Amino acid sequence: MPSSPSYDAIVIGGGPAGASTAAILAEHGHRVLVLEREKFPRYHIGESLIPFTFGPLERLGLVPLMKASHFQKKFGVMFVQPDGKRSQPFYFHTRYDIDTVAQTWQVLRSEFDDMLLRHAASRGAEVREEVTVLSLLRDPAHAVSGVRVRYRDGREEDLTARITIDATGKEAFASNRLGWRLPDPKLNKVAVWTYYQGAPRQSGLAEGTTTVAAIPEKGWFWHIPQHGDRISVGVVAEGKYLSRDGVRDPKAMMDREIAQNPWMREHLASGTQVGEYWITSEYSRHSQYGAAPGLLLVGDAFAFLDPVFSSGVMLALKSGVLAGDAVHAALAADDLSPARFADYAVAIRQSLENMRKLVYAFYDPQFSFKDLIMRFPEAADAVTDCLSGDLGRDYSTLWAQVGEFVTLPADLPYGAPLLA
Ligand SMILES: Cc1cc2nc3c(=O)[nH]c(=O)nc-3n(C[C@H](O)[C@H](O)[C@H](O)COP(=O)(O)OP(=O)(O)OC[C@H]3O[C@@H](n4cnc5c(N)ncnc54)[C@H](O)[C@@H]3O)c2cc1C
Repeated sequence: MPSSPSYDAIVIGGGPAGASTAAILAEHGHRVLVLEREKFPRYHIGESLIPFTFGPLERLGLVPLMKASHFQKKFGVMFVQPDGKRSQPFYFHTRYDIDTVAQTWQVLRSEFDDMLLRHAASRGAEVREEVTVLSLLRDPAHAVSGVRVRYRDGREEDLTARITIDATGKEAFASNRLGWRLPDPKLNKVAVWTYYQGAPRQSGLAEGTTTVAAIPEKGWFWHIPQHGDRISVGVVAEGKYLSRDGVRDPKAMMDREIAQNPWMREHLASGTQVGEYWITSEYSRHSQYGAAPGLLLVGDAFAFLDPVFSSGVMLALKSGVLAGDAVHAALAADDLSPARFADYAVAIRQSLENMRKLVYAFYDPQFSFKDLIMRFPEAADAVTDCLSGDLGRDYSTLWAQVGEFVTLPADLPYGAPLLA
């Protein structure tokens, strides 16, 4: 007789998606093991939160800790045109309560992710760091039954669970190995980023505002004020544009773009660049399936779109909370068949597809929010809601209005469970 699994759930990856799934499952009383390759706190990009991150943070019981943290409060977003002209800051409290949803944060991910992972442990999840998952184990019926891991000292071990949750972020562990990883038909940008210290920032409610500064027809900058007088600065565009004239060095790419952008040049001139320059590409992707017998995907391992509009962490936490509840219900019913995760997959894909339409419109030179709102003033609220991360809703009226300016992508038929 095969021995019974050691855990109810194994979660691969201790980022926001994995930590939130594990916290919810542990809270429900399940035996959960989180396997994380790195030693936390570890560096990660993805520092700007959006208002609807509030719901999952509240569900996890983390709002008081966030409010007491030193993270820079964020109340809005501002867009800067290529000529340096900027929009009025666009504040979330015009739509939501300023004491809850309308105030969010610019975080340092090393600290934020560490807080989430420690929280999962405090709820009863077993967390093992510096453990690399090498492969998925299969039972005789070919369902995933756990993982093979390697510890820091080189020792390897097989660990078993009733369900394995892939929360490996851009590694997309399962979808890479199972041949499910698919590119987005159009999104394929490169991002380069670094940090500045001592550069000027706005004051009052606008202090923590994210600025998105356009590069005409090519891409955009992020300017994210953080605590400790630090500003996260990144540029996102097509690789062939950033590397034109043979430029390969991320610092040279960044310096050239800053020099050509009046707003960024002016706002960084008196600051000092600190730390490394980072570069990443090929981050936009989807998983053809979101679950299979014994396996469920969450966060970036399920799909990742694009850094613009900062939806990644919100979606990672939202999928973690939804997955935690769905797995709990399945464990309680003693039925872990993949079909049980169909609703979870539909909910996450709906959020992704809403955001994806807005991202496609943003990158289309024929589109501007200003023109949209001039023609359809009533679209302003729907755009605010979408940008704030209220993505689990029907926005067909907004998409019909945006569709008057640009062609929007059809929904992708991905993410449903593979039933057997
Ligand atoms: C350039 C850029 C800018 C971005 N900016 C923003 C932003 O401003 N706001 C925002 O919300 N989002 C942003 N994002 C997206 C955000 O970074 C991600 O959506 C978010 O980190 C996803 O969380 P996750 O838990 O799914 O994955 P991750 O946070 O990546 O966590 C995955 C974890 O899995 C671990 N792991 C991987 N493989 C293994 C393995 N084999 N064994 C054990 N552990 C493993 C990793 O070490 C990691 O800790 C940005 C992304 C990019 C590329």
